Amino acid sequence: MSFSKDYQQARDNFRTANAAAGRRTGSADLVDGLTIDWTWAGPERTPQGNVIVFTSALHGVEGFGGSAVQLDLLTRSLDVPTLIVHVLNPWGMANYRRFNENNVDLNRNFLAPGVEYSTNDPTYAALDGLLNPESPPGGVELFWPNVAWVVARHGYQALKNAVVGGQHQNPKGIFFGGHRLERGPELLLAMLDEQLDDCARVVHVDLHSGLGAFGGRTVLLDGEADPARLSRARAAFGVEVKGWDPSNLQAYEIRGGLLEELGRRAAIKARPTRYDGFTCEFGTLSNLAVLARVRAENRLHHWGTLAPGSIDHWAKMGMREAFAPLDASWEASVLAHGPALYTAAKAMLVS
Ligand SMILES: [Zn+2]
Repeated sequence: MSFSKDYQQARDNFRTANAAAGRRTGSADLVDGLTIDWTWAGPERTPQGNVIVFTSALHGVEGFGGSAVQLDLLTRSLDVPTLIVHVLNPWGMANYRRFNENNVDLNRNFLAPGVEYSTNDPTYAALDGLLNPESPPGGVELFWPNVAWVVARHGYQALKNAVVGGQHQNPKGIFFGGHRLERGPELLLAMLDEQLDDCARVVHVDLHSGLGAFGGRTVLLDGEADPARLSRARAAFGVEVKGWDPSNLQAYEIRGGLLEELGRRAAIKARPTRYDGFTCEFGTLSNLAVLARVRAENRLHHWGTLAPGSIDHWAKMGMREAFAPLDASWEASVLAHGPALYTAAKAMLVS
């Protein structure tokens, strides 16, 4: 079974599958005995060869679908050397959080060396009280009318960029990018630098959930909007591939994203790697429904009274439903996307 009931079972399944196949594996230790695990699957890698990378759970609770796709890929015969990195934010997955143990959104945490971990966005500052009330969730409130007012005043796109683009202003707020590179990201970058050092080409698919139509997939190409690159990506992944264009209603600009940093590192090597990074989103609920759940759970985390490690609360279940619905048809749809993404990654590698 590819879908796991929790992080622990997902990791057990990943390790068992790799041990049975005798694959080369490794892991990085984080807090509380949690780990980021990785393995090489497919044929042996050759120096200066081409490589596919699949990563999951950068956003913790989003890892149920990503882990399932990875476990499913491990049961298939893969014909390209493939590095599978399992659950980049295990604490978030174990605790049904999108953020890590320090409330950091890891896809806002990869700032290039020398770039300051600070923002001063007046739109976020204006929205802070609405997004991050200093009280537990629940009770009567005017969240939806207030959101409607903000959308009317600033426009939906401005709201989206301010809210989900990443912020360094409120460490207890949602989409907080941190004050420094977090330990998990630091270990991840060191591992990827080492494992991918001599690759000529890398196609990387980073698996997420919570954006797009229920059960569907949205593929976003990272990096500058280069028309030639975008058309290669569309030939490989399909015409629905989107660039990170701020006018694109399904995407938004982020600061400190993992793929941007990997692209930067690939380009500055003595022998640069051609790196193409894709974010793949499995759709669940509407954007605003997802936002409401992230907001409620964040209030619970900072201002509620739930025992550490417990997920026994409606706001935690709301996160599960927003990022990994307990729904057989959703799980089947997600699993079906995996082989299609792999085939597309192979096509991109040789295009
Ligand atoms: Zn995500």
